[in-house]
Amino acid sequence: MYNCSECMERLYPFLDRELDSTERDEVRQHLDRCRGCSVRFRFEGNVLRYVGEIARSTHCPPEARKRILRACGRLAAD
Ligand SMILES: [Zn+2]
Repeated sequence: MYNCSECMERLYPFLDRELDSTERDEVRQHLDRCRGCSVRFRFEGNVLRYVGEIARSTHCPPEARKRILRACGRLAAD
C-alpha cells in the first residue's frame, strides 16, 4: 500500500483519471485509511471541478481558457 507521499504524488494523475486501475485502487485504499490525504484529495478535486466549471461556463476564447486552466496546474479533462 502507498504511504502518504506516494499517494500525494498521484493526486493529479488520480484526479485526471490517468492512473491505471491498480494504482487507482492503491490510492483509494490509502484514502480510506488516511484522513489527511483524503481531505486533501477532496479539496483539490473540488477546486479543479470549480475552476473547470467557470472556464466552461464563461464565454472566453479557447486560448484564454487554456491559459487559465494551465495557471491552475492542468488542462481541462474534457
Ligand atoms: Zn496519507
